[in-house]
Amino acid sequence: MTFVPNSASARDIAHHLHPYTNLKVHETEGPLVITGGKGVHVFDEDGKDYIEAMAGLWSVSLGFNEQRLVDAAIKQMKELPYYHTFTHKSHLPSIDLAEKLKSVAPVEMSKVIFQNSGSEANDTVVKLIWYFWNAQNKPEKKKIISRIKGYHGVTVASASLTGLPNNHRDFDLPIANILHADCPHYYRFGLEGESEEEFATRMADNLEKLILKEGPETVGAFIAEPIMGAGGVIVPPKTYFEKIQAVLKKYDVLFCADEVICGFWRTGNYWGSQTFGMKPDILSCAKALSSSYLPISAVMVNERVYQACVTESEKIGVFGHGYTYSGHPVAAAVALETLKIYEERDIGAHVGKVGPLLQKGIAGFASHPLIGEVRGTGLIGAMEMVQDKKTRAAFDPKLGVGAKFAKIAQKNGLIVRAIGDSVAFCPPLIITEQEMGDMLSRYAKSLDEVAAQLK
Ligand code: PLP
Repeated sequence: MTFVPNSASARDIAHHLHPYTNLKVHETEGPLVITGGKGVHVFDEDGKDYIEAMAGLWSVSLGFNEQRLVDAAIKQMKELPYYHTFTHKSHLPSIDLAEKLKSVAPVEMSKVIFQNSGSEANDTVVKLIWYFWNAQNKPEKKKIISRIKGYHGVTVASASLTGLPNNHRDFDLPIANILHADCPHYYRFGLEGESEEEFATRMADNLEKLILKEGPETVGAFIAEPIMGAGGVIVPPKTYFEKIQAVLKKYDVLFCADEVICGFWRTGNYWGSQTFGMKPDILSCAKALSSSYLPISAVMVNERVYQACVTESEKIGVFGHGYTYSGHPVAAAVALETLKIYEERDIGAHVGKVGPLLQKGIAGFASHPLIGEVRGTGLIGAMEMVQDKKTRAAFDPKLGVGAKFAKIAQKNGLIVRAIGDSVAFCPPLIITEQEMGDMLSRYAKSLDEVAAQLK
């Protein structure tokens, strides 16, 4: 493609190094430059409208023009645009937000610490786990188990937790002492004749075998997303977390829930932990915490973990962790307003209405010859395209079927995320019934076009 000199696209190619992008392809194809948004829609430079079926990055829960969040930011900017929370300093937005998060936590939590992103939150989680076991005088109990296809971010530690090859390859990751357990994707890894429950039992048995092989005295924590998002919207098989947690309990392994996508009603409950019966010791959240209008993330810890932090910081003289922007007052004020809106508009009840429409809508594609599996819960879902429906054989990755789909969908005014050959949906929580219909018909049109191209 050629670009008009000095256009936004030309300048983007010249100056901007893009995350999560094939940089070589970007040099010739350039960016899609988004200039505005309204509700579940965004608009490009030419005014073309797109349904943002991914809510940005699984994150813009309240849509793209929520004035109350803008007002909350302006108000806080005027009152106190910045202050920090180091060395016994504090400010009201951080205090209020910590109190609020504790009051809605899925299990009793003791304290809340703030960061600026999901990756930083999980980085904090790793450090808290190590700190905790040092406080227990078990300095060898430091290994952390995450899962193949789990996604926990891209900082050195959180990328190590992430179980996707492209986040490790040539970045010299993962770091030592991070282990990856099985991916609990029944459709892909269930054995012939194995029920979902039996598969879950096997997953838990394998986790126990891994812990025993490593030595339970060396395994400190296990981290999991309620539904794996960026790994392909993988919904845990029935009874999975119940069985996994029994193993963790047996060997005194801390349980950390990564609620960065699933938190704040995404799965139909306030927390994914509630949807799947998870009782974490540590919980990380971000994204919909502020509807992504400003960067903020939070980690909640239970009393046992908190007391260990107290012990260590007393011994050392300081809890030597925190960011300049931990609990940034403007971000915290926007997050508080976001949580207020969830309550006032009863977003939970709304998801209770539109979530089933999404699940029913995508289930309608299960019989399509290209679709191997349809999966999801609440307002998150995915459809996996396969070469052979019967054998579940995947397409040759070189064909890039998923990427092809995303491109065609974009032409048809639909922004989705292709993860391999799975197409993910995670629309803003405020999506209406009519917009859901529109989103699914743009999907259907795109699917037919992809099918025609593959013939
Ligand atoms: N954890 C999960 C479950 C995520 O989905 C993500 C991002 O998509 C992260 C952590 C990392 O968050 P961030 O991109 O804000 O660093």
